[in-house]
Amino acid sequence: HRSSELDGIQDILDEIAAAMASRTDRGKAAGYIPELACVDTGQFAIAVAGVDGQVFCGGDVGTPFSIQSVSKVFTLTLALGKLGDTIWSRVGREPSGNAFNSIMQLEHEKGRPRNPFINAGAITVADLILAGHAPREAIGEIIRFVRFLADDETIAIDEKVARSELDHGDRNASLAHFMRSFGRLDNPVDHVLGVYFHHCALAMTCRQLAVSGLYLAAGGMNPMTGTRVISAERARRINALMLTCGHYDGSGEFAYRVGLPGKSGVGGAILAVAPGKAAIAVWSPGLDPVGNSKLGAEALEMLAQRTGWSVFGA
Ligand code: GLN
Repeated sequence: HRSSELDGIQDILDEIAAAMASRTDRGKAAGYIPELACVDTGQFAIAVAGVDGQVFCGGDVGTPFSIQSVSKVFTLTLALGKLGDTIWSRVGREPSGNAFNSIMQLEHEKGRPRNPFINAGAITVADLILAGHAPREAIGEIIRFVRFLADDETIAIDEKVARSELDHGDRNASLAHFMRSFGRLDNPVDHVLGVYFHHCALAMTCRQLAVSGLYLAAGGMNPMTGTRVISAERARRINALMLTCGHYDGSGEFAYRVGLPGKSGVGGAILAVAPGKAAIAVWSPGLDPVGNSKLGAEALEMLAQRTGWSVFGA
């Protein structure tokens, strides 16, 4: 028996999974992407990956789900690795206080999105990763990067979800065209959206997602493989952006209740980071009115209470 931050964590996860199974008010699955609208909201899963390499799970851990906007953490990391801090001339670092797919601020800020986690910002990051290549190559690069993070070659894109987003992507298309009208996108809109919809449609389990986020908890290293993903300084800064912008206009509430850097997606996943301790993935498809997983946030609130992991103190 080794003593660590994760002592007793399995009991806590079992307790959380049991508490979540009995909740009746579970939120609604994302309605605007038909392929997500039909996912059963009765499901819940949680996984905690410790910086010492141990992984603990609870709930429906075998079920892959659409990671959606959680993928924006990985594309931001990839873009920073390729282009460095020059990306900040194209996208800001301030919370938006608006819905994830809002177009309003883009006019005032002449096509420069407030942060890389709202849709407009992530579309800009997709444009940067694309950099004149064919969409297929950029999508391949993103998949390879996420497989490297998860140390799992089986991770794939759910083509049905990607197709469903494309078929119902008028809002994202309008964001992209609007930015391009300010000269803010280098690549054709259909190429950029192809990359964006495909990375949003990555399918993963909670275990895979928690392991993929471990570099953010471990100073930029992946402790499972012993490889450096990014510098400690970059990991710290991505965590800061997740804390301030990771839940859109619900970011303040998430910081208040959970107190961890976190990134949500409309598939119902949240990736949270307890720096120096663990990466946590939760999934439950029912969303709150802002578009963040309802039970996911509740589960993380319970976990933070039980463990004292909030970055603001126990
Ligand atoms: N693919 C989704 C969209 O573009 C991602 C949004 C989200 O997860 N918040 O609308």
